Amino acid sequence: MTTSLPTVLFVPFFFSLVAVLGCWLYYALRWRAPGRPQRSRIYRCAACGHVYADPRDRPMARCSRCGTMNDVLKR
Ligand SMILES: [Zn+2]
Repeated sequence: MTTSLPTVLFVPFFFSLVAVLGCWLYYALRWRAPGRPQRSRIYRCAACGHVYADPRDRPMARCSRCGTMNDVLKR
């Protein structure tokens, strides 16, 4: 089996192109991943009714008024 000159030149070129495309796709998808724009979650305190937001994206957050732990408000 003999490899022709165009094949010897094309194969490394093709694989480097695939690698560049793969990196581009990886970063393009990563930048559009959910959570990139900072969204604060909204909580309503079950004890005092205080409505507050927490940007840390946690399932529970402490009320700033009375200190009770509350679940995230469903939107
Ligand atoms: Zn409270």
